[in-house]
Amino acid sequence: MSAIVRKLKKGDMVQVLSGVERGKQAKVTHIYPESRRVTLEGLFVSHKHRKPRKSGEKGEIVTVARSVSVSKLQVVCPRCKKPARIGFVTEAGKKKRVCKKCNAPFV
Ligand SMILES: [Zn+2]
Repeated sequence: MSAIVRKLKKGDMVQVLSGVERGKQAKVTHIYPESRRVTLEGLFVSHKHRKPRKSGEKGEIVTVARSVSVSKLQVVCPRCKKPARIGFVTEAGKKKRVCKKCNAPFV
């Protein structure tokens, strides 16, 4: 298992460190471990204009979530609400993720 999969989980809040969405926070909706990319809720979406295929059908605009490299993201700690680095502690044989700033365990 690659490092990113252990550090990042679906549903985590992350802050964007660079790019047009810099400074914004969003929830991780999907993780692509092979490419080290994730998609975020409501961020990095592009709109695709779809043309009508059949007559009588209307063209529509669909939103597509674009993936973003994890190197541009930092996990936001649920307790101190700050973008934090993640550490690991082993408790009762289980590896847990903790915030390196306040040591709060991540869910
Ligand atoms: Zn914290």
